[in-house]
Amino acid sequence: MKRLFLLPGASLALLAMAASAMAQGALPAPAFPQFKSATDIAARCDSGLAATKKQLRQLEQRKVDDGWIAAYDRFYALTEDAGNAIDFIQYVHPDKAIRDAAQACSLRWADFNSSLKQNETIYKSMKAAPAADAIDRELQRVAIGNFEDGGVALPAAQRERAKLILDRLTELDQLFNKNIREAGIKLAFTEAELKGVPENVWKTAKRDEQGRIVLGVDYPSYVPVMQSAELSGTRERMWWAKVNEGGDANLKLLAEVASLRHEYAGLFGYDNYVDFNLRRKMAKDGATAWKFLDEVKSSVIEGERADLVELRAVKARHLGTPAETTEIKRWDSTYYSERLRRERYSVDQEAFRPYFPPEQTLAFSMRVVEKLMGVRYTKVVQASSPLWHPEAQTYVVSDAASGKKLGQLYVDLYPREGKYNHAAVWPLRSGSSKLGRASVAALVVNFDRKGLTLDEVETLLHELGHAVHNNLSSTRHASQAGTTVMQDFVEAPSQMLEDWVYDKKVLKLMAEVCPTCKPVPDEMVDKAVAAKGFAKGSRYGRQHLFASYDLALHAAVVPDPQQLWAKMEGESPLRHESGSKFPAGFAHLTAQYGAGYYGYLWSLVLAMDLRTAFQDDKLNPTTGANYRAKVLGQGGQRPAPELVKDFLGRDSNSKAFFDELRKQ
Ligand SMILES: [Zn+2]
Repeated sequence: MKRLFLLPGASLALLAMAASAMAQGALPAPAFPQFKSATDIAARCDSGLAATKKQLRQLEQRKVDDGWIAAYDRFYALTEDAGNAIDFIQYVHPDKAIRDAAQACSLRWADFNSSLKQNETIYKSMKAAPAADAIDRELQRVAIGNFEDGGVALPAAQRERAKLILDRLTELDQLFNKNIREAGIKLAFTEAELKGVPENVWKTAKRDEQGRIVLGVDYPSYVPVMQSAELSGTRERMWWAKVNEGGDANLKLLAEVASLRHEYAGLFGYDNYVDFNLRRKMAKDGATAWKFLDEVKSSVIEGERADLVELRAVKARHLGTPAETTEIKRWDSTYYSERLRRERYSVDQEAFRPYFPPEQTLAFSMRVVEKLMGVRYTKVVQASSPLWHPEAQTYVVSDAASGKKLGQLYVDLYPREGKYNHAAVWPLRSGSSKLGRASVAALVVNFDRKGLTLDEVETLLHELGHAVHNNLSSTRHASQAGTTVMQDFVEAPSQMLEDWVYDKKVLKLMAEVCPTCKPVPDEMVDKAVAAKGFAKGSRYGRQHLFASYDLALHAAVVPDPQQLWAKMEGESPLRHESGSKFPAGFAHLTAQYGAGYYGYLWSLVLAMDLRTAFQDDKLNPTTGANYRAKVLGQGGQRPAPELVKDFLGRDSNSKAFFDELRKQ
């Protein structure tokens, strides 16, 4: 199952209610399983795998006739239902024993999946199966590619090695994430040391024996400290703790990941993992991805340097030092950017929080989707079966016009010990019109209970964009649903929606879901819009560095991850802070975004092109319906470039993206 990240971004489950609510449309999704203990997880793991293996044997024995592709898809759907909830729970369950047991189960599934990819019987049947039309042929094309990428067509010895590598890579990704999730880093500060940091961040935080305030490095603490702590020493401690969160342990894991991927590509005759990994994506090969990144770089480098000169001037003014000798350190950049943003545009991200209480903001972002795409979100308020945590929530998503139920969305809003600490969506279940199957997605973020900054509202819309891609999919087959699109397209629908938070008409929808909420003043929005392009050079420069590092890490000669990072970051205008281990916390690298991080920028080209259709009205229901039908609804049953062309009525181009990058 893919985990869809953000760009570096009262419980009560359903059961009875959802079951009746679902009756009208697709078949109800099963209730989220209640995991009671590690033993319970192990037992469910056994039974889920056993049921899946039984079905696999039946599929192996099945005659390859007109119904074979549909039978394969039913099998695919079963694997989701048997495995995804346990896989997901390792990231969010409050009980460590359950998380650990889920992680162990996940490894068993990884073993099953890597074996499946090498299943010759299924592979041959897939190749021989009669396809009814272009949709079936696309399913075949993609599935055959997946089997071949899994090593099914390799000679026996290499095939065996391929499986070992795949299984180890899954394990390494788990370990990498676990090290971050369970690092449990705490820092103690006096009130004086937190000067400038909004009180809501620390007022109710725990205190140590000396009465100092204890903060973790999760986003609700980390971001405000980096943005607003006046004392450089405070920011410096926070920055070091965060940047070294994964530590040497993760650098070691990362080195193993890079060298195993290199070896894996070699089994297929490739001298580097990038070309191997990109050959079935939009970019097609490493040279194309690098060429694109070079073009991005040349468009932003001047801006990046100019931003730094400005920051230096602000710091010099603040400290009363000469600008020429004032240096911007890594822990200064966010703080002085924010300071400059406040000075120049009078925009203070913290000032947005009172206008965006978390629950109401969730309802607001759902209302945006409702207006635009003709759907309805209904909160399931009473349930007999709880989710993984009392604060996780369930929504039913239905078509507004017909009332037909399309799927379900789980939402987990607040940080807690041991919980996944970024923002992501897990597509737990893929919808299918043929199977009458409802979709299920889980959206996980970590917001401050006091409210969201405008940046965080953007994050929420981004993640909701992934959830919508899953929930509003209306493909024939489950294995082609929603987010199963090519990886360098998958961020586009989410990135498209990010821009909606800067639209006053869109923001007015808050009043519909929260009549008692004070509306965010127009002038604050105007200022935020004016400040949008601020520090663009640095922002894109950083993304360019991440994407380039990821490609370079997977080059023909595998580098040492830390040395490579020190060198590449060292060449950036802000340079490298010796001893900082950023890649140790860069979880995209070990996940499926490895050698694919460029996809964020690549998708952004498509996202900005998609936005052009909504230029005049971001809530236009006709354009929204068209988009839902031609892009989201199609999932992966047609290649992504065709979907975009169908929606825009022309081939996609990068004009909007590069215009935006070069805009002064
Ligand atoms: Zn994303």
